[in-house]
Order: sequence, then C-alpha cells, then structure tokens
Amino acid sequence: MNNDHILEFGDLISRAERVLIISHIRPDGDAVGSLLGLGLMLEELGKEVNLVLEDGVPTVFNHLTGADKVYREAAGVYDLVIVVDSSDMERIGSVLDEHGEPDVNIDHHPTNTHFAKLNLVRDNAVATVEIIYDLALALTLPINLPIAEALLTGLLTDSLGFRTSNSSARTLRIAAELMDRGANLQVLYRKAMLEKSVEAVRYWGQGLSRIQNEDRMIWTSLTLEDRKIAEYPGRDDADLVNILSRIRDMDVCVVFVEQTDGTVKVSWRAQPGFDVAKIATQFGGGGHKPAAGAEIKGDLERVQEEVLEATRAILGS
Ligand code: 5GP
Ligand code: MN
Repeated sequence: MNNDHILEFGDLISRAERVLIISHIRPDGDAVGSLLGLGLMLEELGKEVNLVLEDGVPTVFNHLTGADKVYREAAGVYDLVIVVDSSDMERIGSVLDEHGEPDVNIDHHPTNTHFAKLNLVRDNAVATVEIIYDLALALTLPINLPIAEALLTGLLTDSLGFRTSNSSARTLRIAAELMDRGANLQVLYRKAMLEKSVEAVRYWGQGLSRIQNEDRMIWTSLTLEDRKIAEYPGRDDADLVNILSRIRDMDVCVVFVEQTDGTVKVSWRAQPGFDVAKIATQFGGGGHKPAAGAEIKGDLERVQEEVLEATRAILGS
C-alpha cells in the first residue's frame, strides 16, 4: 500500500454515492470495528452507506453506534464495494454473489489474496482499523466519538488488549489519539473483551471438560451437541481458543468447532516462533503466524486427526 493507492482510495470515495461495506463471516471486533468505523466516516461525508455482515453483529458489539444498522444481505445497486478485514473472497460468505466484484480490499492479513481492484493491504498493521485510521488521517476523513469507539474496539480485540507481539508504541499512540476523541478504553475493553454471556461460559465448560494435550500441544472440540446443551447462539468458539492459549508450557493450541454444514471451524494459537498461518493455509484457511483459522470439510473426528497431524509436523514432534 503506497501513497498512490491512498490517493486512489480518496478519489474512489469522493466520487461514490452508494457504498457497500462488508466483512467476514463469524465477525470479530476488528471486522465490526472496521465496518462501523469506515461506514460512519463515509456517512459523515454524506454517502449512502450499506453495512453488511452475513452473520450479523455479535451481541458483544451491540453497544457500538451503527451496530443496529448492519444487515445480513446486500440489497440494491452500489457504485463502490469495499471489503474490510478479510483475507480472501471465501471469508465474506455469499454476500457478494449478486453484487459484483469488490472494488477495494482493506486488510492486514499476510495471507491476503489481493482479490479487489484496489488492494490496501498492510500486514504490519496490528488490526485493519489501524489502516482505516491511517487512511482517515491521510485523507482527512472525520473521526468523531462513535468512529473512535469503533476503531478502538478493533485495535483492542485484534491486539488482545495490546498483548500480541506486534503491539507497539505506535499502537498505544493510536489508542491514545482515539481516547483523546472521547473513546473510553475501560468500558470498551470490558464490553468487547471481558464480558461473556452465561451461555458462552457454559459452552466453554463443555469444551474445557474434554481438553487434551500431548507434549506442548493442547486442543479441544465443541460439538453441535455442546452448543445445544449450553444454548449458545453463535457458531464460533466463544473465544475458547484464547483461554487455551493462556495455559503454561504449551506452544500451540487448537479448537475444533463442529458446524451444521458438514464443516469444522478450526482455530490455532501459537507462541512466538511458530507459524500456524502456514498450517491454516494448507487447509484452505489463513491468518497470522500466531493466530490462524480454517473451515474444513469433513466430520469432526477426521478433521481433528488430520489437523493434529499437520500441527505436530510444525512442532517437530
Ligand atoms: P479465529 O481463529 O479467531 O477465527 O481467527 C484467527 C485468525 O485467522 C484471524 O486473523 C482470522 O481472520 C483468520 N481466520 C480464521 N478463520 C479463517 C478462515 O476460514 N479463512 C481465512 N483465510 N482466515 C481465517
Ligand atoms: Mn483483523
């Protein structure tokens, strides 16, 4: 992403009237924060903006301004389609099936496939919201309080509360700038990172009750039955993988989540020095060296076996 790309983006948004912004399935805080942050900026500029997430906004982000205006399907005709925080076209689900090609791809995943006409991809950014923040500065786009809150939410969640190894002094400076615009770090942190529903914690309980480990690898699974017992409404792991990643003396942790469509969602987390994005890519997924995921066809048992085998290989065990 160079200066010409930024100017081209400025040109595209100044000419557009109807903009569609979308992000990935099973959206996280960076997906939602990027979507709302950029969406609210373009609305401030007088654009008609449509925000779409195939899976909707997870309840933990409902407090963010604009969360109630996110739809699950695109409708109408757009003259600009922007995809945020998505490394490839599969990640966005079927939203674009009848709405053309993406014009702009704003993302920070090293596994990004540069699928749009204009690709604003910078893999040294902690989160996609960091790129959106930089675009806003370069093009003097507005950053009011709701926009600052959306951006700070993405920064907090993708950096796991400034804990990831790519969190830098600059990350904290951006956070400070957003706080200067009124965003409340403590409230946003609690809402997006700490608070869990009773159902989510019950769902964790199901997964935690059958945790397994072998050398420095630890894993567990969440079945459709677990989801039913816990009455958990999502189809993600409720962030269980980030709980496993806190277990001492483990290099890699993996969570397998059984899905209704005959696939298994796999999430890896690794300590510095390991690259789980490489394994995820082998299975058609992607992500970052320390955190990656893939959606793999097959039943839980078989997927688990194949994935553990491939994961053992990078651990050298
Ligand atoms: P999580 O395990 O929390 O879903 O995702 C961890 C990281 O891997 C995130 O950066 C996410 O964007 C990426 N990721 C997760 N699932 C997939 C997937 O199915 N495909 C791709 N390309 N990336 C994924
Ligand atoms: Mn992200």
